[in-house]
Amino acid sequence: MTETSMWTEEKIAQATRVSREKFAKYIARLEMPVEEELAQSAQLDKWYGDHHEFYKVRKESMLKRTKDPLWEHSRVMNQQCKACAYITRAAGSAFTRSECVNCGTLIMNASTDVDVLCKHCASILGCCTHCGAEMEEPC
Ligand SMILES: [Zn+2]
Ligand SMILES: [Zn+2]
Repeated sequence: MTETSMWTEEKIAQATRVSREKFAKYIARLEMPVEEELAQSAQLDKWYGDHHEFYKVRKESMLKRTKDPLWEHSRVMNQQCKACAYITRAAGSAFTRSECVNCGTLIMNASTDVDVLCKHCASILGCCTHCGAEMEEPC
């Protein structure tokens, strides 16, 4: 890390907290029995109420993915934390420019949900390109 780094330890720690919390919630939801989850959400029940088995299989495969060495490899290659790599982001699919918060380099994003760091800074800082959280070791 250089002394001129704008993406400070404090910011990294904050982003890391958010990322880990988000991912823990995601896993907890995937591990929750389908019946229990549908009982908690009218929206989900509307979508999957008649397709419990389908939803269960879908959840299992999403959970499995987070422990799959191949997915983990591609996550690390893409320089993304687990939360950003595994949780589907809902964003508009319009090419959007942003600036790396660390060095100001222009970043081209495929969606409106923009990355905070350029690939170069993310890799030097050991952070997620998208949210700037500290990277997890592949499992
Ligand atoms: Zn940068
Ligand atoms: Zn991230």
